[in-house]
Amino acid sequence: MTDFFPENPVAVLCSGGDAPGMNAFLRALVRLGLNRHNVPVLGIKDGYRGLVKAARQAGASPVELQQLKDAIVRNPGRKGMIENQPVVLMDHASVSGIMGKGGTVLGSARCKEFEKREVRAEVIALLGALGVRALVVVGGDGSLAGARCLAEESGLRIIGVPATIDNDLQFTELSLGVDTAVHTLVWAVDHFIDTARSHRRVMVLETMGRESGDLARMAALASGAEMVITPEGGPLDAAQIEKLAHRIEEAMIRGRGHAIVLLAEGVKFDPPQNRNGAYVLKDAFQKYFDRTEGAFSDLEVRPSVLGHLQRGGHATPQDCILAARFAEKAWKSLLDPDCGNGITALRENRVALVPFDCPDMPERASATRAMDDLHEALSFW
Ligand code: ADP
Repeated sequence: MTDFFPENPVAVLCSGGDAPGMNAFLRALVRLGLNRHNVPVLGIKDGYRGLVKAARQAGASPVELQQLKDAIVRNPGRKGMIENQPVVLMDHASVSGIMGKGGTVLGSARCKEFEKREVRAEVIALLGALGVRALVVVGGDGSLAGARCLAEESGLRIIGVPATIDNDLQFTELSLGVDTAVHTLVWAVDHFIDTARSHRRVMVLETMGRESGDLARMAALASGAEMVITPEGGPLDAAQIEKLAHRIEEAMIRGRGHAIVLLAEGVKFDPPQNRNGAYVLKDAFQKYFDRTEGAFSDLEVRPSVLGHLQRGGHATPQDCILAARFAEKAWKSLLDPDCGNGITALRENRVALVPFDCPDMPERASATRAMDDLHEALSFW
């Protein structure tokens, strides 16, 4: 059985929050491996948690390692996934029909204990014992920090691939999943707008994005939402909230019939609040509109926290194309003996491999300001 264990495979895992485009990436990585480079790919289930699980299974003795290798060969592709093996030999069928599907067929997870160096040492030993020539880590900020640790603590080739709907990774213009999430938000705004228009309402919609306002900003530009509030503007105090409410009221006096406000989840309040921002802002806006001298005493504000709706759904063509381009770059980099470790990144519409400690792109900050200005100019009437 062991004679057939693949020689120097590439391993891949998805980690942290799932993002549309992860499956398209897996499909591209496996197909390029099998069709273009003749290198087998091992899929690791459930991110770093799967690696730790496999390391524990195989680490006890050479017999246990042999048993893991035998199982990998015996149950390739979907069979291995059904058997819930932590490591699966990917075949063509295992990535067939998954391209646009949200989430990841390999599963993703968070794994606290992987943050310990001694646990990562077990993982490094496992990857060495399986003869893995390179590990590809697909995920967001935290997952790529983990990949960086592995790169620094081992002689292994490690390639990171940015995948997060938050677009908070500042070394790339786009991460996998952002385009799909923006599409989803535009769809959501289109639905809320019908009620907002019919009932002359203000809708406060809370978007994801962690500490970044990029997702909300892009969605506001693409959907025509009247107002976008992002963490980059600093914490919101009562006076600022009043100013925002006043702007909405003024617009309504000029004849607008509704307002859609996109509020990024990372926006902080002064004083700090422990409720979702959409509810905090709803109450403050409602109080303002309800004041006796207000122009629209019947104006209602409705909040909605859009939540995980934004993380799922069919990946857009743009995300599928970006996934294929990132996969191609990952292969080129890991097969090039002179190329170091790093992360695939989109820069000026080219895919590059940037080092794990790559500084933020200054263009990202200026693009943020430019988008804010553009939205401001487009939303006023
Ligand atoms: P995301 O990749 O979506 O940002 P997390 O921040 O939850 O998601 O990180 C995913 C996983 O990456 C964590 O559960 C942990 O296993 C690993 N990780 C995160 N930060 C670090 C770190 N600083 N060092 C090592 N591993 C990390």
